[in-house]
Amino acid sequence: MAVEHYKGSCQCGAIAYEADLDLDQVNICNCSRCGRLGSVWSFVPAEAVKMVKDGPTTEYLFNKRAISHRFCPTCGIEAYAKGERGGQEIYGINVNCLEGVDPRSLSPQKVDGASF
Ligand SMILES: [Zn+2]
Repeated sequence: MAVEHYKGSCQCGAIAYEADLDLDQVNICNCSRCGRLGSVWSFVPAEAVKMVKDGPTTEYLFNKRAISHRFCPTCGIEAYAKGERGGQEIYGINVNCLEGVDPRSLSPQKVDGASF
């Protein structure tokens, strides 16, 4: 697989985006949030994401408060998160929210977020 164009949204559609992602490079994480949600993440630079409809969203911060988790206050789905890496804005796209993608068919890398 290579970088391809995807559409994603929360369940009710209040949050919608298009993103260029390489789904060979996805992560699952065992932290106290991702473990509960079962999120599968694709982290990309902000330029790779185009917000079509951005909410309203509710922000949730925890641990070092470095990652802005954004979820829909209506349907409760965390469609994306925002953070920073090396001074650059990055998005975490929740692969579970993409159209036409079966996240369970992917081979995610495990991130030990619980130890961060
Ligand atoms: Zn929603």
